[in-house]
Amino acid sequence: MTQNYRGRIAPSPTGYLHLGHARTFWFAMERARAKKGILIYREEDLDFNRCRNEYSQAAIEDLDWFGCVWQEGPDKVRMKQSYRQSERMPLFLKAWKELKEQGLIYPCEKSRKDIRAASENIQNTDFEPIYPEAWRPSSHVTDDLNSPEGYNWRFKVPQGRKIDFHDESLGPCQFFGGKDFGDFLVWRKDGIPSYELAVVVDDIEMGISEVVRGEDLLISTARQILIYEALGAKLPQFYHAPLVIDSAGDRLSKTHQSLSLRELKKAGHTPEELRQSEAWWSGIEDFLET
Ligand code: GLU
Repeated sequence: MTQNYRGRIAPSPTGYLHLGHARTFWFAMERARAKKGILIYREEDLDFNRCRNEYSQAAIEDLDWFGCVWQEGPDKVRMKQSYRQSERMPLFLKAWKELKEQGLIYPCEKSRKDIRAASENIQNTDFEPIYPEAWRPSSHVTDDLNSPEGYNWRFKVPQGRKIDFHDESLGPCQFFGGKDFGDFLVWRKDGIPSYELAVVVDDIEMGISEVVRGEDLLISTARQILIYEALGAKLPQFYHAPLVIDSAGDRLSKTHQSLSLRELKKAGHTPEELRQSEAWWSGIEDFLET
């Protein structure tokens, strides 16, 4: 069991990586190392409007400087597959087809604004505006559609369905379909799969046994569990790492340029020193004890 551990880090080249990314990836690396497993570097570069080659190159250099080590990835010639999502479209299309044939997804013409307005009357727990169930089209609508092209496609979330899972860091987690989140996107009108679909397809296909990512993606995990089930795949373990927050208590984002690994390096910091800083340590102790 331990020998088969396969973890991954999955940066999106939409900006320079910051200390928060480095910490999540460090957790992933430590966990893979502790289990004598493999760590995969997968580039999540599907958003053509936001991703840039320059960031893709920089992410590898910066993580390398920081001391992150992975065994499979776009910069390593290890396997026949590509480690860039933009080169894995056939896999995503296959999953889209599978979901469509099971009647689990549908094309949707409503805008985000429509959904926001409609959801004002639906009670939810504040995570996101809930897509009204009544807007789902009747099932035969998809019969003639052989490609996702031209539409946003949504996953039919079973209303009231309890999704519970054990998180290796947070313990038991629980969400309810239709209350915490509604019908979510699996394919975007601009021609690319959504984050939720692409990440699950890749994690299944790459044989990932544990997904380590930031706590901000906890609710995404609940959505993704529904996709795993629909595709008949075994769930990996999940470990949601605590986020690094700034002095105002906000989580870091790619707009915090002063905390980008690049800037920290330029300012003369060393990875060792950063890993001992207060921002780095808050929340990391409980991992080290396990
Ligand atoms: N690509 C995502 C990010 O950069 C990570 C997704 C994941 O780990 O599932 O935040």
